[in-house]
Amino acid sequence: MTIRATVWGENVHETTSQIVSDIYPEGMHTQIAKQLAVDKNIVARTATLQQPEHGLTKEVLAETDVLLWWGHAAHGEVADEIVERVTNRIWQGMGLIVLHSGHFSKIFKRLMGTPCALKWREAGERERIFVVNPGHAIAAGLPEYFELENEEMYGEPFSVPEPMETVFISWFQGGEVFRSGLTYKRGRGNIFYFQPGHETYPTYYDDNIGLVLRNAVRWAHNPQAVSSDPSDAPNVPVEEALEAIEERGPKLHKKGEKGLR
Ligand code: ZN
Repeated sequence: MTIRATVWGENVHETTSQIVSDIYPEGMHTQIAKQLAVDKNIVARTATLQQPEHGLTKEVLAETDVLLWWGHAAHGEVADEIVERVTNRIWQGMGLIVLHSGHFSKIFKRLMGTPCALKWREAGERERIFVVNPGHAIAAGLPEYFELENEEMYGEPFSVPEPMETVFISWFQGGEVFRSGLTYKRGRGNIFYFQPGHETYPTYYDDNIGLVLRNAVRWAHNPQAVSSDPSDAPNVPVEEALEAIEERGPKLHKKGEKGLR
């Protein structure tokens, strides 16, 4: 079964920082999409902030099984209307993989309902990523731990809700630890937060990172996704009750009323 992934990139650092554009001349989103395309069952397209509707039109989202999100400098420029559109698709069953500084994106905070804050330090530290859930599909094929020579330190406490599963915990050279791979479910949508991916380091060229991203796309794909409105709350008429009933008791709502929102 082909999985249709869309890699959303903010694409700001790549166009404003020489350091970042030297590492990712085609944009971080393009390199992430290349990593996904290593799996012949994943078809990856990209979308960026600067495109009309941020590249996330209704048509694009309808054809997306898993959305990956990298944002940092321009979270506030993402239109609320698009955030709601993406939220609804996730409730319908589209998967979401939130990368690195995406912890502060509107979409992640909307879905978590908490501040999603953390400690950080940009000092090129070694990161050791431990697989703490070795049976998990996202960790398939990984050793007990792997390392990135340079990463940004993200430290606890990470103010997210208690996750469904913790797949990775990272140690940084300066001594801090961080829950670097967390899963959630919102509506029918599977969500994975994955911490590595600071823009001034070549993280998305790393083979283990590529493996995690492909595993995560396969894990997040929900074949039971639906196209109906996930916010639909139908008023079932008395005559359509599964068993015959007689209406009784005091009433507030009128017959056929849509209900209050
Ligand atoms: Zn960063």
